[in-house]
Amino acid sequence: MQKRYLLTPGPTSVPSEVLLTMSQPIIHHRTKEYRKIFAKVNEGLKYLFQTASDVLIFSSSGTGAMEGAVSNLLSPNDRALVVKGGKFGERFAEICTAYGVEVIPVDVVWGEAVEPKEIESKLAENPDIKAVFTTLCETSTGVVNDIESIGNIVAKHSAALVVDAISGLGAMEYKPDLWHVDVTVGCSQKGLMLPPGLSFISLSEKGWKLVAESQLPKYYFSFLKARKGIGSLESPFTPAISLIIGLNEALQMIREEGIESVWRRHSRLAAAVRAAVRALRLELFAPRTAADAVTAVKVPSEIDGVLLVKKMSEKYGMTIAGGQDHLKGKIFRIATLGYADTFDVISVLAALTMTLSELGYEVELGAAVRAAEEILMK
Ligand SMILES: *Cc1c(COP(=O)(O)O)cnc(C)c1O
Repeated sequence: MQKRYLLTPGPTSVPSEVLLTMSQPIIHHRTKEYRKIFAKVNEGLKYLFQTASDVLIFSSSGTGAMEGAVSNLLSPNDRALVVKGGKFGERFAEICTAYGVEVIPVDVVWGEAVEPKEIESKLAENPDIKAVFTTLCETSTGVVNDIESIGNIVAKHSAALVVDAISGLGAMEYKPDLWHVDVTVGCSQKGLMLPPGLSFISLSEKGWKLVAESQLPKYYFSFLKARKGIGSLESPFTPAISLIIGLNEALQMIREEGIESVWRRHSRLAAAVRAAVRALRLELFAPRTAADAVTAVKVPSEIDGVLLVKKMSEKYGMTIAGGQDHLKGKIFRIATLGYADTFDVISVLAALTMTLSELGYEVELGAAVRAAEEILMK
């Protein structure tokens, strides 16, 4: 027998309260019973998103809602500013290109945050830009972008600001209404403590104005159809009923803890991981702009990074993430995201220490855990 732990930046582990409620017999969605749950979920999502706007729900992974943001806001040959600097920023550029939207890239070195001034100058040079696409937490590099500053800049232009907040939601401070964000994208398998399968979108007035003008084709991911469904509590298509019921439970848990406490918990856990990384004489991949949802760490040159992740999973049942694309084998990523607490961090750090030691990296046993304990006791 081996107990398994999941500390990847999606999917994340799901609390038993949520698992149990999802295992109930299926109810029909055109019933009073379901509409009651749907209404509660709509309110809970507004709280999680910290917005007064409706939050639309789709049955897809996060990328579905990212694609919806492109196809519902833009028209063929529109121009969009896309912040790169990681796998998920690049995904927005790929979606735009697939839909015939011209991409003006803001290239950012992987591991660094975008400089808001760069967005300002690109917008000034290209006043016809319709939308700016960026990421709250760039999961592939463990970087948090300064959305508040970016929002203040974009608000002075006609362009809408679209934020992929997928891995940041329910983990890191995020206030789209105050920060002038027009479109927020979220999904279920990260900070929400749910299995994969749901994606979310919220839009400001400015965002909805673009939706009204958009000429790109869409059908299932039509934001207008989904909004109508919220008004009438009738989903346009069969909703992912069990996931919505689980979402209701997860949102109640978040509401009970309080969103600020949820953010504080994540920042405390991430601070402990960062302290442990230093105690192990390892280097953070994004030391200046480290996100709290996921910590990216450079693999020391004498160690095989792919083997490290594999061994931690196979020998200790501890699943963390490796690097993606050109960072494969070069970094590993520990998520403190969603249903994560003090002893998840202690366990992952102990497993990391033991694995590093077994791979021949010189570490003092207990040093990482001690460094984390010092932070976690504060
Ligand atoms: C996980 C993630 C996505 C979505 O990926 P899916 O596999 O489609 O759910 C998008 N953006 C970010 C920042 C993510 O972390």
